[in-house]
Amino acid sequence: MCGIIGIFGTDNAANMAALGLFAEQHRGQESCGMAVSDGLVIRLRKKMGLVKEVFSDDRLSELPGTIAIGHVRYPTKGSATEFNTQPHLVETLAGPTYALASNGDLVNYASIRKHLEAQNVYFKSDNDGELLVKYLAYRIIHHGDEISEAIRNLMKEVKGAYSCVLCTRTELYMFRDPLSIRPMVWGIAPDGAVVVASESCSLDTLDVVDRHEVPPAGIIRISKGQGNRDAGTTLERCNDILVIENDPNLYRNSGTEKHCIFEHIYFSRPDSHHFGEDVYRVRESIGAILAKNDEGLNPDLIVPVPDSSNFIGLGYATASKVPLSLGLIRNHYIGRTFIKPEQTIRDESVRQKFNVLPNFFKDKKIVLVDDSIVRGTTIRKIVKLIKNAGAAEIHLRIGSPQVCHSCYYGIDTPDAGELVANCFSLEEIRSKIGVDSLKHINIGDLRSCVQKPDNYCDACFTGDYPLGEPT
Ligand code: AMP
Repeated sequence: MCGIIGIFGTDNAANMAALGLFAEQHRGQESCGMAVSDGLVIRLRKKMGLVKEVFSDDRLSELPGTIAIGHVRYPTKGSATEFNTQPHLVETLAGPTYALASNGDLVNYASIRKHLEAQNVYFKSDNDGELLVKYLAYRIIHHGDEISEAIRNLMKEVKGAYSCVLCTRTELYMFRDPLSIRPMVWGIAPDGAVVVASESCSLDTLDVVDRHEVPPAGIIRISKGQGNRDAGTTLERCNDILVIENDPNLYRNSGTEKHCIFEHIYFSRPDSHHFGEDVYRVRESIGAILAKNDEGLNPDLIVPVPDSSNFIGLGYATASKVPLSLGLIRNHYIGRTFIKPEQTIRDESVRQKFNVLPNFFKDKKIVLVDDSIVRGTTIRKIVKLIKNAGAAEIHLRIGSPQVCHSCYYGIDTPDAGELVANCFSLEEIRSKIGVDSLKHINIGDLRSCVQKPDNYCDACFTGDYPLGEPT
């Protein structure tokens, strides 16, 4: 999972991009990067680390320019090395230079790469973003495609999830896969700059008020100039030429959108709005359904696992009329426990990440709410903590169906063999975690929490992969 940002048409593009990326830090904490054009040169800075570490004020002042694209990375495909950081830059001898950042995973990466390598295209990383930008450069240089044409060809040939920003020295492009699996929103900032981001929480930090989703199979090109208002009246404040190309054939061929439902459950920030939904409202609805299915349980406290389950817990508490209790405290400086390479390190990190309020749980009957169980590492540790604090009963409620299948479209789910739901029965999992009862929301109830359930990919729960598995 990753986050992207694109800025066009302001003197401090790098500063704005850094602010936007910072708001998306939850989407990737391994590395980050930015490519900035001043019209003549595209400068690139990318490194392992958090946005605030990599982009200090001094560093930002070394990136002058009016166009910027950026990326925060959370490794899915490809290891966590500097080679795999984004954006990726292609410099051609003839002059044109392209930088691209992408969120999502490709399904036919291997065959496209093989094809390009056979044409002497050279790869430095095993990252999807590099494949996408090299594919585009190859189409432009060897087939004479215009950039938009190259992107349209990419949409026909490359299968997978990709929300992308691409910059040349003078233009910014945003485009998105026909199923629009990952979120991607854009709008106009108060100074007229165009901003595109993975999530609207990032647009909020930049005071962007007009918001739009990049359409499925949509290409939006922004270049310098005045007067073109193709995108409609809400864009009056945009300084620049803005052309929206939505290829109806590609869109029609794709059938329908297949947004990632896990974005609503866990990944996105609750203050974001995408796929036509307020993320926090979806989470509250999930909680309300969990509560409805628990009538008669009569707990003393509803305790969410912070922060990802707060709104699911709130929905449960409101519907059950039992108070929400913030009995678990999370240390925000620990970083990601989920992706630690070894299980022992993961276990230790979970203990450092969570603690309980003193004198809080003794003799209480708790409903503990979490968003998902993947390997089962996190929740087992948390339950132990609450039990040691004296809770009388713990009833665990999960805001997603059982995760039984890996995600191939941009979320780092472990191999199916590591998914606890694949290895044990629900009763065995309950017993291993050590709770008095365990219930997940079922897929039908989850679907009822969004307005257009058919427009979602739920393959991690159902195994129904809209684009198949990687080939
Ligand atoms: P686990 O300990 O493996 O069961 O991890 C489950 C917890 O990690 C959930 O409660 C989520 O908060 C979080 N989580 C779930 N999926 C992911 C993911 N793909 N990347 C990072 N964290 C995740």
